Amino acid sequence: MSSTEQLATRAIEVLTDLVGFDTTSRDSNLELIGYVERQLAAYGIASRRVPNPEGTKANLIATIGPMAPGGVVLSGHTDVVPVDGQPWTSDPWVVTRRDGKLYGRGTSDMKSFLALAIAALPRFADAPLKRPIHLAFSYDEEVGCLGAPFLIEELARSVPPIAAVLVGEPTDMQAISGHKGITSYKVTVTGHEAHSSLTHMGASANMAAIRLLSYLLGLSEHLAASADPASPFVPRGASLTVGQINGGTAVNILARECVFIFDLRTEPGMDARALLNGFFEEVRLVDAALNTRFAHTGVVVERRSLTPAFAPEDGGVAEAMARRLAGDNGPLRVAPYAAEAGQFQAAGFSTVICGPGSIDQAHQPDEFIEISQIERGAAFMERLVEMMCEDLPLPARRGEAG
Ligand SMILES: [Zn+2]
Repeated sequence: MSSTEQLATRAIEVLTDLVGFDTTSRDSNLELIGYVERQLAAYGIASRRVPNPEGTKANLIATIGPMAPGGVVLSGHTDVVPVDGQPWTSDPWVVTRRDGKLYGRGTSDMKSFLALAIAALPRFADAPLKRPIHLAFSYDEEVGCLGAPFLIEELARSVPPIAAVLVGEPTDMQAISGHKGITSYKVTVTGHEAHSSLTHMGASANMAAIRLLSYLLGLSEHLAASADPASPFVPRGASLTVGQINGGTAVNILARECVFIFDLRTEPGMDARALLNGFFEEVRLVDAALNTRFAHTGVVVERRSLTPAFAPEDGGVAEAMARRLAGDNGPLRVAPYAAEAGQFQAAGFSTVICGPGSIDQAHQPDEFIEISQIERGAAFMERLVEMMCEDLPLPARRGEAG
């Protein structure tokens, strides 16, 4: 067995362990974090948790090699999306091998990348590294990249200037240099209940919400029609959709409440808030119209999440590094989905997305990863070790928190 094959085999063992921890975002990831801490400790590598405010979840940071500038961050999220209601052929929490593929929740998104980093620990620990390799594992990526800000703040505070952040989301081991941002809002319309025949005695929250929803429908069509034809994104330009609507209790009651959630996805450089100016004006009008009739009625808008877009960097250090490690000479690529890359970039770090597995498998029932992807990931980690032992003068940056 070649050393790359050995690394891939070990990574599959670790992946099997990682998938066994049900780290659906709504639940704690601390058991998985404890497992990673034990793996690190076995090679004498210190790590530290960056917990969420409630203490129920944690990010994990570890540094292998000298505490010197010019290090690389291997970044990944530990949480996975739910399996509820999905038709799985085999147990989603048990890695199952069929036809050269490994099935299980998180195999592509993105526990294989974590497994490769963990499997490579003895190589990292034994190598005469000139610059450090940092592990940065986060929680709550799948529910709006909520854990990463605490992780990034701690990295910026505690680690010498960093050359590159490699975010190991599934990209078929190709460098992805940009992604859209997401802003999502929850809108609560409160009306006044009455018998549905007595429309003059109440105010239907549903009917008021429809005014706002039809505004958003028009806006989504306008955004699609006005997209820059030269945009590298698919779909081009900003997109908007209403993911959830809950309103009313019965056909013969004027609805007391209607709640809906929408998300707006924007290309780098777009101002999400400015795109929504007209919507907020509509909210003000609907709110005032309700309010003048019944004091307790109205519209409340809350922002649920804000994931910054990730823009291709001119001559980006991280992109060049990932391309060299993955042997990728392809064209510039961008992704329509959002990840933590925009957050690392916003903090000042040169960043790229590159990891094993396919985004097409992510979030699906019977999620899988091709074993060949793990093998390519193993080769990537081996080249990373070599690169970090070279005397490469890489520009490094100290990140800025918040
Ligand atoms: Zn992911």
